[in-house]
Amino acid sequence: MTITNADLRFNENGTPYATQFEDLYFSDSKGFDESQHVFLANNLLPQRWKDFHPAQFVIAETGFGTGLNFLVTLANFVLFKEQHPSSRLQLHFISIEKYPIGAADLRRALTLYPQLQAYSQVLLNQYPPALAGCHRLFFLDNSVILDLWLGDVHQVLPKIENTNTGRVDCWFLDGFAPSKNPEMWTQTLFDKMAFLAKDQCTFATFTAAGHVKRGLRQAGFEVFKRPAHGRKRDMLAGSITKTQNNATRLPYFARQGAQCSLKKTHSPPTVAIIGGGLAGANCAYALSKRGMAATVYCKESSLAQGASGNAQGGFYPQLNAVAGVSSQIHATAFTYAKRLYEELLVNGQDFAHQWCGTLQIAFNDKVTARQQKMMNNNTWPPSFIHQLDAQQASAVAKVSLPYSGLFIPSAGWINLPQLVQALCQAAKSQIACDKRLTQLNPQGEGWQIDWHDGSHTQADIVILAMGSDSLACQQLADVPFRLVRGQVESIASQGELTQLDTVLCHKGYMTPAWQGQHALGSTYIKQDKSCEYRLSEQQLNLGMHQQALIHCDWAQQMQTQSTGRAAIRCSTPDHLPIVGAVADFAKQKSQYQDLYKALPAAHYPAPSDHPNLFVLSGLGSRGLSTAPLCAEILISQILGQPVPLANDLLDALSPNRFLIKGLIRRTL
Ligand code: SAM
Repeated sequence: MTITNADLRFNENGTPYATQFEDLYFSDSKGFDESQHVFLANNLLPQRWKDFHPAQFVIAETGFGTGLNFLVTLANFVLFKEQHPSSRLQLHFISIEKYPIGAADLRRALTLYPQLQAYSQVLLNQYPPALAGCHRLFFLDNSVILDLWLGDVHQVLPKIENTNTGRVDCWFLDGFAPSKNPEMWTQTLFDKMAFLAKDQCTFATFTAAGHVKRGLRQAGFEVFKRPAHGRKRDMLAGSITKTQNNATRLPYFARQGAQCSLKKTHSPPTVAIIGGGLAGANCAYALSKRGMAATVYCKESSLAQGASGNAQGGFYPQLNAVAGVSSQIHATAFTYAKRLYEELLVNGQDFAHQWCGTLQIAFNDKVTARQQKMMNNNTWPPSFIHQLDAQQASAVAKVSLPYSGLFIPSAGWINLPQLVQALCQAAKSQIACDKRLTQLNPQGEGWQIDWHDGSHTQADIVILAMGSDSLACQQLADVPFRLVRGQVESIASQGELTQLDTVLCHKGYMTPAWQGQHALGSTYIKQDKSCEYRLSEQQLNLGMHQQALIHCDWAQQMQTQSTGRAAIRCSTPDHLPIVGAVADFAKQKSQYQDLYKALPAAHYPAPSDHPNLFVLSGLGSRGLSTAPLCAEILISQILGQPVPLANDLLDALSPNRFLIKGLIRRTL
């Protein structure tokens, strides 16, 4: 969903000024020192990092603005790490921004701080489009994570997944002066800060306004007046002692989160990822960002032999005219995936790809109306997706197209096996091939995995990322996976098609040439599990493309050479992935059997899950867009770290959602 950008001016000193609030972002030329004094020193940073025990220190901020506070914190963290080289501490910075500054304005604003230039550049390189929701960015070799949430604090804070002992170690309560921005500085905000706070969480704010002081006290914080910076007299700082666990938001259903429950801390846990496709490789990569190793087990003799085996997969989000749950997930996941792919390339990994954009052509009246509605609704930022008329569409595609369309410039295509290889290489994962799962049995706190070749493996944590083989795993037998066969045609470059320079999408997709071949995707045959190449599907697929491109002579003249590849995708009834702890379906069925009575949520116990067993599956044909974020969510959940997705969207990925719906409707 589109978010309004900040309306910025720069004063005579080059300091940014927000027209929406009639206030400066920071004091002329004193921003750095002010930030250091108000937010760092008054939260006792960096001293508190020295003896801090959990692996991550979590800071949350209201109002990201230019990111100055974040960048000053980064600079402090770098210094801290230099002075404490043995420290393993990671920093997690959550910041919420209602009106994100446009990239060009941000670049200009940050030139005021040349001492932060190295860090500002990393921020600018990853800066997300003005899209509501959480954007997770990485800094300093992944030791710092920034979750930049775009939206109003009052809407965003309730969407941040909390735990019963809180999330946040320290608050930077920023935002323009309370007199200029009264809607933000409310009791609801202070209560929400207390709700997300961990025991002994501190806060600091530049204002000393009476109602802020009283409001924070009412929320449970101890509040002190402290000397402010520069010409201002006072500011506020303090902390909170939490004597009780939070009553966390129950359902979905009846939540506990997917955190791993391993008690042993003497050695790093052994992690087995079963599945050598996009899902498994992304889990290995997300773990490696936390310095954790995993072994990836694949049933074939090499990686990416299943649905992740296509040479040119279309990489684009599934967007609708209304930003419902599914398109919000797809949009956030797509932007996350794009940053991750760029990061792999910058770090020296290599995979064939082309960021050539995708053009969704308006090939019939229904699609034209849908596309027009999306544009009229301003559902998505224009930098993300915009409309082209037929002439512009032809110019972008470099083939003649008598159709208007929607263009997503940051999309493209990727060679999937090479990408999977690159992810595992970057993660330094061990790869074990020819390992087909036969059985999983609990053993101690972890699992024994029995393989088809008669061998066994022990692991503390198991992640099931098995695509169409998910059904073969007894613990997943009650998830209603849908298997769909898809055949992709590979055709030699010919005639005008040779010029094609973007991924064309209609009911299917067609890529520009790579090594003289174009990919034409794809058929969708439900409940068909065989992978042989079929001439009947070649005709079906080609016919679909020619029907959609009926007014393009070059498409009508396309000849195939009967080469292609079929694979089985694993989808779900609601077309969304399955991410989280594996439910103990038998136990949950009895725990929640009277759900249809719609009793108060507190009536229902926490769900029985299989301890230390997790799943990432059901990616359908969308894994290129969704796998990276889903893996990042899963690994964050397992490690008890903040989750990069709004909790209402997270609910939609829950592995037990079909069971719960069935129990509510009494269809089970
Ligand atoms: N921390 C920022 C920095 O380091 O540059 C400066 C913050 S600036 C003084 C205040 C920021 O709060 C602005 O970017 C403004 O758009 C944002 N803001 C104001 N009201 C907000 C709200 N209700 N929700 C989220 N952000 C808000």
